[in-house]
Amino acid sequence: MLVETSHPGNIGAAARAMKNMGLSKLLLVQPCDYKNNECYARASGAEDIIDTAVVFDDLASAVAESTLVIGTSARLRSLAWPQLNPRECAETVAVHSNQSGTASVVFGRERSGLSNSELALCSSLLHIPTVAGFSSLNVAAAVQVVAYELMMVSSSETVREDVDELPVPQSDMERFYEHLFSVLTFVGYHDPDNPRQLPLRMRRLFNRAQPNRSEMQVLRGFLAAVEKKRR
Ligand code: SAH
Repeated sequence: MLVETSHPGNIGAAARAMKNMGLSKLLLVQPCDYKNNECYARASGAEDIIDTAVVFDDLASAVAESTLVIGTSARLRSLAWPQLNPRECAETVAVHSNQSGTASVVFGRERSGLSNSELALCSSLLHIPTVAGFSSLNVAAAVQVVAYELMMVSSSETVREDVDELPVPQSDMERFYEHLFSVLTFVGYHDPDNPRQLPLRMRRLFNRAQPNRSEMQVLRGFLAAVEKKRR
């Protein structure tokens, strides 16, 4: 996913980098007028990726269907955001894709990268390590590094395939939260009329944990056991 890329050549080069590594789904957020000779020349065999790229008005709509969004940054930000290097990113994406998730990696503008509000849509931030003081890669070069790591990990056997390890869909998370807050209310820990930050903190905790099916069964079983005591 490329955000507001201003050089058609970079879009072409990014498409080529992706195709070399077996990736094909390119999403563009507010790109420049990119379908020109320079773009196709730099795509050099990856014209199909340019022609099937999907364009969006903003990043929020581009990532709407993603279940894992990883931003990229040339600078390490002062914000406390989980950081990944390309290898860790690829491992995270491989596990996620194996669990039928849809992962996106987001690349920023040539000049200014990604905005803070765009980073807020990401669960973690990928930084490609470089020498000190010269950390900004050309955006297509950054795509190449990440795409290479994604290919290397997708051909390895280290990913999990157990059905119990599958992530639960968002609808199951919502049912869990209903159950959780009903039990927390019953035990007197939660006051629905004065919730304060509790619901948000609980959601942040359990969303971050990304419980799988077997873990969700344990959580629901625990809540049901507490409810049974009530009766
Ligand atoms: N001055 C900008 C540089 C943007 S470089 C900034 O500091 O963010 C354009 C894009 O290339 C970045 O948004 C990012 O997507 C990618 N990129 C360049 N260097 C990178 C690096 N070292 N690690 C991760 N992504 C990088």
